[in-house]
Amino acid sequence: MKKLVFAITLVLLFSYGCQVDKGSSEKKAKYIFLFIGDGMGIQQVNTTQVYLDSVLKNNQKLSFIDFPVQTFATTYAANRYITCSAAAGTALSTGSKTSIGTLGLNYNHTDTLFSIAKKFKENGFKVGLLTTVSIDHATPAAFYAHQGSRGSSYNIAKDLLKSGYDFYAGGGFLDPYGKELKHSVESIYSLGQKKSFAFTTSLTTIDSLSKKFNSIVYSIPNPTTESSIKYKIDQDSTDLTLADITKKAIETLDNPKGFFMMVEGGKIDWACHSNDAASAIGEVIAFSDAVKKAVDFYEVHPDETLIIVTADHETGGFSLGNKENKYSNNLSLLKNQKISKDQLFELVKSGFTHNPKPTFLEMLDLAKAKIGIGNKDLNLGLTDKDIEKLKESYNASLKLSMGSVQKESYMSESKEKFSITCINILNRKAAIGWTSTSHTGSPVPVYVIGQGATFFTGRLDNTDIPKIIEKFTLKEP
Ligand SMILES: [Zn+2]
Repeated sequence: MKKLVFAITLVLLFSYGCQVDKGSSEKKAKYIFLFIGDGMGIQQVNTTQVYLDSVLKNNQKLSFIDFPVQTFATTYAANRYITCSAAAGTALSTGSKTSIGTLGLNYNHTDTLFSIAKKFKENGFKVGLLTTVSIDHATPAAFYAHQGSRGSSYNIAKDLLKSGYDFYAGGGFLDPYGKELKHSVESIYSLGQKKSFAFTTSLTTIDSLSKKFNSIVYSIPNPTTESSIKYKIDQDSTDLTLADITKKAIETLDNPKGFFMMVEGGKIDWACHSNDAASAIGEVIAFSDAVKKAVDFYEVHPDETLIIVTADHETGGFSLGNKENKYSNNLSLLKNQKISKDQLFELVKSGFTHNPKPTFLEMLDLAKAKIGIGNKDLNLGLTDKDIEKLKESYNASLKLSMGSVQKESYMSESKEKFSITCINILNRKAAIGWTSTSHTGSPVPVYVIGQGATFFTGRLDNTDIPKIIEKFTLKEP
């Protein structure tokens, strides 16, 4: 009997030992991509795929929609159920919850939280942060900054210089000269040069610069006024895309020790704040194109690459289907929108800047040309109620443009009602629902492929994502 127990124990020990061996000998990913679609809920993803299938009919699948591992992550902040990009970015970068507006600090700002990007850098990996918005915006900043307020753009940019990662790319800085501080300070460019940072707006110079400098900050040559890459819907073939930048980042960071790359599709969120479905769909496609560059890399290095695609939160309470259309959808109507809501706002604003001011009929013609509304041939005729609403918003904007305060707050985007009404009418007719112009508390999708993907199972919280990445890619402490 004793012998039998001994034999069984031996067998058990042996098989356990084999399992441990199997686990520890399993390769760890050394090329890690974390894609964050800012504001990208499951409905934004699904509706974009439906748009590709039923409107564009181009046989295109979003590059991540069939990843083998898919789950959801909760997104709440330490002090509010509906989160913001700073708190959610910090959760995704550090594995800790923090308060609204906080970057890389705990909820009451008494402790510093460190991001996985820093840990990768310390472990010999190269690190890159990429975004379609400014590089000091909340999501990329969550991977290097330690600031109580996400609005402290100059100090956030100074933290970027302290982080010393290898490659940063996006639309530039919001406040490189520290204008927000009201006292003169040294510019980020001047400070950066002392820390072996190179700043460039040319993708082709990056190879030679990376031989001479420790860190490269690439900004696109013609950013929008908010230092972001143009919406896909507003781009022409000469404009650089997030996919172009991701491709360049892979070439720049690729090395035998590995890399960690965070890539943000930052304007999915902006389009959803504007309740602008056509622009949001364009941004999800542009984001998917960037993920495709990582998938191409994964196909060459399948045993060493891990790709995670997720979001920081959902924006807009977006839905395919609304009260007006019940069970039918008219997504094809969105194809008639030629420019983003932001661009429409700029056109309306510039119209009202001139004298004589544009008439209501002229503004209706603008809406018809750019958004399609009012064009009966496109099935976008206006009802009496639509015209009433447009007239009301035209009058409100006309009044604003003639107001005494026009120099200070002349038609800020949230105050200019005509462009908002045009986009709302199109979205309503297309059967798109929006419940908010802010974020929602919806969990976000998580898509994973590659080495270690199977560890992302079950219901996750956003703080689990960096913890799992760290556990299964970095060396044991
Ligand atoms: Zn947002």
